[in-house]
Amino acid sequence: MSKINLMGLTLAQLENAMTDLGEKPYRGRQLYKWLYHSRLYDFSRMTDFSKDLRARLDQQFDVRGLQLTKREKSEDGTERFLFCLEDGLPVETVLIPDESRRTVCLSSQSGCALGCRYCATGSLGLLRNLTVGEIIGQLVFLRDLYGQDCFTNVVFMGMGEPLNNYDNLLKSIPIITDSAGLMIGAKKITVSTCGITPMIRKLAGAGLKTKLALSLNAATQAKRLQIMPVAETYELDGLMDAVRYYTSETGFRVTIEYTLFEGLNDTMEDVRALARLLRGVPCKINVLAYNPVPELAFRRPSDKKLDWFVSELYPRLPAVTVRRSRGLDIGAACGQLAGRGAAGRKT
Ligand code: SF4
Repeated sequence: MSKINLMGLTLAQLENAMTDLGEKPYRGRQLYKWLYHSRLYDFSRMTDFSKDLRARLDQQFDVRGLQLTKREKSEDGTERFLFCLEDGLPVETVLIPDESRRTVCLSSQSGCALGCRYCATGSLGLLRNLTVGEIIGQLVFLRDLYGQDCFTNVVFMGMGEPLNNYDNLLKSIPIITDSAGLMIGAKKITVSTCGITPMIRKLAGAGLKTKLALSLNAATQAKRLQIMPVAETYELDGLMDAVRYYTSETGFRVTIEYTLFEGLNDTMEDVRALARLLRGVPCKINVLAYNPVPELAFRRPSDKKLDWFVSELYPRLPAVTVRRSRGLDIGAACGQLAGRGAAGRKT
């Protein structure tokens, strides 16, 4: 009989596992702390358990992390990690060091069903949702490699649409934030969506304190349709209603991500449309230049164009910042993750 992998089990699941073994539920919390906080995976060294309990845990359970396939480091210090899941599928994680923060760009799916036309992950299609263990496993891998302080922030902006893996997302976040878990404050976690309207409404009622980012990328329904097929199902008007609902329910601002494409969404008309669309919406806007993907036809705007766009937008909207891409030279920037070099990938 194969052993049950404990990686990714929630506190309630570990408490249940302990009661199934005839132990008190608080033993589950002790196990939880060993796993996620201390990152100790050898039951024989869990000294607050009796020898008998350690032996019984070892008979039934193990702790299996992610298997690294490839690792690359950018000139700017950004690192890209390619993992091979137990069924051979690829998933990528990016670690982005900055002056004061170190951000992990976390994946929630292998591939993605949304097929945003500018995104390398979208061209894979959805391979499958990641389990909670595979989501948490990305963070645990980095901590095992670099230690407790190797990241300060977590953004669900890697492979996949996190709101399309909602249940596992919601199980993962408490493990990341818990003081007996990975201990990253909820405000340091951003869930980024391409616009799954009903799930934004659902997330508003989930009671999380995490941040929400929306990849908007176009200020009109017609333009959004050109680059994001998800807009066929979830039209811009309804999406913006959901964003307003989210901000009023949670009291949080939303971050609007606007990727600038040369010749597509970078004119004065686009500036005006964006300002009109976002007027009165509690948000801040991150403008970033498109990161090229070799097989796709979109073009990256010049730095001058990016600066011009922001300078025109800023007086019209209160909070506008430029997000400079990191890890471009190793294909680790936003929209570039496609499991390149994945050994044993099943498609
Ligand atoms: S941008 Fe995000 S949601 Fe769109 S295809 Fe890529 S991974 Fe999926």
